[in-house]
Amino acid sequence: MRPLTSDVLVIGGGVLGQAAAYHLVREGARVTLIDRADVGQATAAGAGILSAGTTARHAGPPYDLSVRAFNYYPTLMERLASDDAGETGFARCPLLLVAREAAERREFEEARAAIFARQAGTGWPSVEDLHEITPDEARRLFPPLGEVHGAILHRAAGRVDGRLLAQALRRAGERRGLRVRHGSATRLLIERRRVAGAVVDGETLAVSSVVIAGGAWSPAFAAQLGIELPVAPQRGQIIHLRLRDRPTHDWPIISGFRGHYIVAWPEGRIVVGATRETGTGFEPTLTAGGVREVLSEALRVAPGLAPAEIVEMRVGLRPLAADGVPVLGPVPSVEGVYLATGHGPSGLQLGPFSGKVVADAVLGRAPEVDLEPFGVSRFRA
Ligand SMILES: Cc1cc2nc3c(=O)[nH]c(=O)nc-3n(C[C@H](O)[C@H](O)[C@H](O)COP(=O)(O)OP(=O)(O)OC[C@H]3O[C@@H](n4cnc5c(N)ncnc54)[C@H](O)[C@@H]3O)c2cc1C
Repeated sequence: MRPLTSDVLVIGGGVLGQAAAYHLVREGARVTLIDRADVGQATAAGAGILSAGTTARHAGPPYDLSVRAFNYYPTLMERLASDDAGETGFARCPLLLVAREAAERREFEEARAAIFARQAGTGWPSVEDLHEITPDEARRLFPPLGEVHGAILHRAAGRVDGRLLAQALRRAGERRGLRVRHGSATRLLIERRRVAGAVVDGETLAVSSVVIAGGAWSPAFAAQLGIELPVAPQRGQIIHLRLRDRPTHDWPIISGFRGHYIVAWPEGRIVVGATRETGTGFEPTLTAGGVREVLSEALRVAPGLAPAEIVEMRVGLRPLAADGVPVLGPVPSVEGVYLATGHGPSGLQLGPFSGKVVADAVLGRAPEVDLEPFGVSRFRA
């Protein structure tokens, strides 16, 4: 075995792995991060919507995690700035939930009832930050919109560029001593129910803790750990458009009722997405049907996007847990192994905070949230 040079090995260089590694080195741990850079990494494809107040979730631990994660962003941005980490693309911007057709009115009313009941119950966001607006107001905020049959404006939302965020976390981590290696972790070394190291590209590394943040690929370690880890790839195809000469930087994010969305960025970049395909396995390919679905839904909601230029198409595999809830925290069967995966469609929002929470658990500190509801043991009947 190679001599012990790190306390912790983080497997995976997406947002979860980079966030866990960064928070560990901030607290003085010696950390190595291994990333295989698989084609289909979710972080590199993510749309970057940050919004807790408009999800359909009822109040409860996953909703609480998402609010805390959203509220952690400004602190993280200050920390990254003080580590001179570079751009992340983070900005606060409003989100508009719109019903496009009369037929969506019933769903709109159900969502409205749930959102405002939760707002009344939890006191967050404030009424100023979350309220209904008229169709005319909606079109004024986002001019390409077509007909609107209901709109809720949510001001406490934001966006982040997943690629830039992961790079910034890495840069900030490296400034604090994080070592990053390209490679593939194939096996853990376990001695008397405790992790002792890992095999990386045939080489054995000795470490005392391992964080598995391998996205949709994380279940590769489940059999060895004797756990059930029902996390599977959910394919997402997403398209980047450009509307020339339009001041798009303050346009809201548009969220519709068919699981699709439109995210406006500065300088005319408009990102439209995304498919949510289960059962496609590890096939990060763009398909004719997927591209058609994304474009037709975007143009149905916002016909004014028709003249936009197509500049890029991306595809990523979201790590989706069977019950849709992130998997976070220690593996009970093997001491020293922690999971940070299963963040499905919300990993860019949740990832930085989840990484921090897992780092706390690795360091033996009480995490800011109870990890029990996110524990892997929930999958054993
Ligand atoms: C189209 C699309 C749109 C999205 N939009 C949003 C959004 O608007 N808001 C939001 O919050 N989230 C969004 N998401 C979800 C978000 O991107 C993911 O939840 C998040 O990026 C998952 O991060 P991760 O680090 O767990 O996994 P990944 O980003 O997939 O990273 C896992 C990494 O681990 C590496 N790895 C795996 N196994 C090994 C191994 N054995 N050894 C070494 N390396 C390994 C892989 O190569 C990969 O680089 C979107 C996702 C997609 C695809």
